[in-house]
Amino acid sequence: MVRVIMLSPPGAGKGTHSRWLTRQTGAAHISSGDVLRAEAERGSDLGREVAAYTERGDLVPDELIFRILAPAVVAAAHHTGGYVLDGFPRTMPQALRAAQFGADLALTSNAVIYLTAPEDELVSRLLDRAGRDGRADDTLDIIRHRLAVFTKETAPLVDYYRGRGILIELSTDRSEAEVQADLLDRLQDRGLMPPEPWVATSDHGETAGPIIADDL
Ligand code: AMP
Repeated sequence: MVRVIMLSPPGAGKGTHSRWLTRQTGAAHISSGDVLRAEAERGSDLGREVAAYTERGDLVPDELIFRILAPAVVAAAHHTGGYVLDGFPRTMPQALRAAQFGADLALTSNAVIYLTAPEDELVSRLLDRAGRDGRADDTLDIIRHRLAVFTKETAPLVDYYRGRGILIELSTDRSEAEVQADLLDRLQDRGLMPPEPWVATSDHGETAGPIIADDL
């Protein structure tokens, strides 16, 4: 079963590629951004605390992230045995604690997918998305800040996972179909894809879907 981490700057396509990967494998899609936005929309004290960070494009503190996400990961593992972690971990302390957590629960990640694209391409994709989805943090200033936060806090994880021999690096500066085919090949080479897709495609109207806090 795939247990993968999507490690990418904003706009590189981690959400897009997490979705087909979860459909084809039956692993749970856990999008930290979706979980946090759901918590913020709930308007709880915790949600308001979260929104104060996400609205500025700053990272939510590690302690809060673990409090909110750890139950989702445990539930996912219980339901499916696999996961696609879309947006987590994003700092070295998160990565180290996730590795310990994975080892304790026999849920160690078997691949880390690092999607890249030139910065101007990332900015233009996020501005396009702003027009479509209306995400509050997809404004030019906040996008630039999120990219800087990625470089400072998240980019060091690339070398960490490369050193562990589980990094798959892919350029997404090409069509989505090409990236998908390339990623599929690389996962198959590592024996991480099931021989047949786990669930049908959208013809059957089924998707694994993101796990959000309500599923716990
Ligand atoms: P995303 O949907 O992945 O772009 O995440 C949206 C926002 O949620 C980020 O800009 C952060 O404010 C917050 N966020 C998501 N994942 C994490 C994480 N692992 N650690 C800290 N903050 C996060």
